[in-house]
Amino acid sequence: MSIDLKNLIPVLQAEWIGFNTATFVDHVSIDSRSLQNGSKTLFIALSGVNNDAHLYIPELIEKGVQNFVVQYIPENSKGKANFLVVKNSLNALQQFAAYYRDLFHFPIIGLTGSNGKTIVKEWLNFLLSPDYNIIRSPKSYNSQVGVPLSVIAINEKHNLGIFEAGISMVNEMTHLEQIIKPNIGVLTNIGSAHDEGFQSLEQKISEKLQLFKRAAVIIYQKSELVDGCLASFLKENQLQDRVLFSWSFTDKTADVFILKKESKNDKTIIQYQYQNGIFDLEIPFQDSASIENGISCLLVLLYFKYDAATIQNRMQLLYPVEMRLEVKNGINNCSIIDDSYSSDFQSLKIALDFLESQNKNASKTVILSDIFQSGFSNEELYSKVAQLITDNKVNRVIGIGNTISSFSDKFSNAVMFQTTADFIASFESLNFANETILIKGARSFQFEEIVTLLEEKTHETILEINLNSISHNLNFFKAKLASQVKMMVMVKAFGYGNGGLEIAKLLEYHKVDYLGVAFADEGISLRNGGIQLPIMVLNPESTSFPSIIQYQLEPEIYSVKGLNAFLKIAREKNLKDYPIHIKLDTGMHRLGFEENTIDELIATLKGNSTVRIQSILSHLATSDDMNHYEFVLSQVRLFERLSSKLMSELDINPIRHILNTSGISNFPDAQYNMVRLGIGLYGVSNDPLEQKYLENVGTLKSIISQVRTIPAGDSVGYGRRFMAQKETKIATIPIGYADGISRLWGNQVGYVNIKNQKAPIVGSICMDMLMVDVSEMDCKEGDSVVIFGENPTVTEIADALKTIPYEILTSISQRVKRVFFR
Ligand SMILES: *Cc1c(COP(=O)(O)O)cnc(C)c1O
Repeated sequence: MSIDLKNLIPVLQAEWIGFNTATFVDHVSIDSRSLQNGSKTLFIALSGVNNDAHLYIPELIEKGVQNFVVQYIPENSKGKANFLVVKNSLNALQQFAAYYRDLFHFPIIGLTGSNGKTIVKEWLNFLLSPDYNIIRSPKSYNSQVGVPLSVIAINEKHNLGIFEAGISMVNEMTHLEQIIKPNIGVLTNIGSAHDEGFQSLEQKISEKLQLFKRAAVIIYQKSELVDGCLASFLKENQLQDRVLFSWSFTDKTADVFILKKESKNDKTIIQYQYQNGIFDLEIPFQDSASIENGISCLLVLLYFKYDAATIQNRMQLLYPVEMRLEVKNGINNCSIIDDSYSSDFQSLKIALDFLESQNKNASKTVILSDIFQSGFSNEELYSKVAQLITDNKVNRVIGIGNTISSFSDKFSNAVMFQTTADFIASFESLNFANETILIKGARSFQFEEIVTLLEEKTHETILEINLNSISHNLNFFKAKLASQVKMMVMVKAFGYGNGGLEIAKLLEYHKVDYLGVAFADEGISLRNGGIQLPIMVLNPESTSFPSIIQYQLEPEIYSVKGLNAFLKIAREKNLKDYPIHIKLDTGMHRLGFEENTIDELIATLKGNSTVRIQSILSHLATSDDMNHYEFVLSQVRLFERLSSKLMSELDINPIRHILNTSGISNFPDAQYNMVRLGIGLYGVSNDPLEQKYLENVGTLKSIISQVRTIPAGDSVGYGRRFMAQKETKIATIPIGYADGISRLWGNQVGYVNIKNQKAPIVGSICMDMLMVDVSEMDCKEGDSVVIFGENPTVTEIADALKTIPYEILTSISQRVKRVFFR
């Protein structure tokens, strides 16, 4: 793309404030972290509940970005760049995308539905790619932000588009329709429940149909419900001439009628009737969702007039779709970003941004296969790829494939291999260590073999952490704060068991004001990981004072003795104004200055310039329990009195803070200048209503190692504590009390979740394994098992074990691998 900003002024109804020079941009960014931001970038500053991108504008100008769409110009950036000032920058992004879309005239497939959008999109891309240069939404970019970003990536070389649209409320689809304007509409599975945000299933379907206002054909699974919604949609919009192209398992009047469906090994053979012919089709899956998604693809291919033999040849090669980028721990302290199922230019850009945001090691490596279907000549394409890789400051490139190898001179620091097998043969000599490795390749290169080689070998149990949910929860609590109130987030105990450094990085991105850790060591490892936010240490031991100072950590001081010890070391180092935090005991009776020690504290600090009181804090004992409402108020009153006394006698004006998560929810009047968010960030609330608004962060997962059937009368496990009353099918899961699963959760007290069904734990939980009763379900070795997450929740487990979610979360042992994704 090359767009003159001046042309955008009427499109965005913007006010232009900037230099009077002609300005062309060639791409759009909304992510301040992207290393791809540069002089040709149009940066659209979104400001939502998430993160106000306007805050990053000064940094971006320094990095060379010159063109911005903004809602306001930050004070210190005036006169330093071109600004298009708009009322609402999300609208502007959408208007721009709609305008840009109209510059192209090739067919566009628009997908919507409740399930299967991304899979159908990826499969159609695979099925149609031999014949078209396709632009498609990357991953599941189907939201109000994702759709415009996807559309903006169209270029002159494309001749088919496939975009998905997802909505969560009424009226959203109209916006997306104007951006995608699909000519071919596909409605995937619509689910049986209406989601929050819709009053009924009909309303949800009708809203989704809005995507097809301009579509010449609508492809869907026939049912009374959808037919009814379609009829009123067509009538309301006077679209009776639209072609409807439907399929069904049961209704013979559908255009494609499925006569038979038969599983065989890992495949399903279906027989369908279409235009008086009867055809067989093999789909390499067994589950019903995949079959439905496969049939949606079949209809699109029929609409494109492919013959049955070509359809059969291509569809039998369909593959499972990996929908998200995952970070995994690799060998020799590497981390791996696994994107081993796709290679196209647009998704490479996204993956490189992800690499930058997740980069845990100083050094970055990209393993890249040949890139297909870009539409560009190879010469052009690999020049662009090389440039992108340079912009992203990638330290080494490993190219695999004949084509990429032949352009090796375009890359600096590149090693090239003709085939994946050649790479594997040289694996040892490449010495992978201490680097973050992005693995990105077209399917035919089978890069999953490379992932297997690079992945750290541990057992199959992982704790999956959803970084998006953490952002969501952070924003939920931020929204409760009065303006100017700062946010400290507690990442002690390895981020409540969820992973310290990765979460701290995300929080730094979200510009929280402070991090809190329990011990100096925790703060030191955050500093070693590159975290620059101020860090308060709750429980500094005096032996750790020198390293606290060395790593610029800020100690909480809770006694005169501790204060004197810190002052001694600080004076030896000639420190001035070193920030410390004064903890007051207002009733918790754990750590802190009591009322009768305040005078001594004041005397010690008066006239002292070695340290500076950065904040004064106290901690509530019962903020989660309204039965103790009065007690909380007494703590707050005492905090007010003691902190005021310190402030007036020492003539200081520090930050004051007393609220933890449930304090934020229950005592909004006591926010002072800062709050300390803990468990809420990790998705847990003690209030069932509030819990509904939080997103689950951690999912503890494992797999089935073995399945056996035992006769009535046999026992399971140590101590024979489970006796089978009847023939029983038992599955063994490789997770035990050494991983942090309490033994009290065994013996039919607790359960695990297999394919959304409860499998009760039978017998005693062992050190490294536990056994469950799966008599009632269809499962096999290798199937995935959820120990906790959405279901059961940690709260449910904690209640059953008469403890609190904090203990369950922080008990998960460090040998359980943490996998982060967004
Ligand atoms: C852990 C901790 C918090 C956070 O508590 P949550 O209940 O998890 O929000 C706040 N303040 C102090 C002093 C803490 O130790």
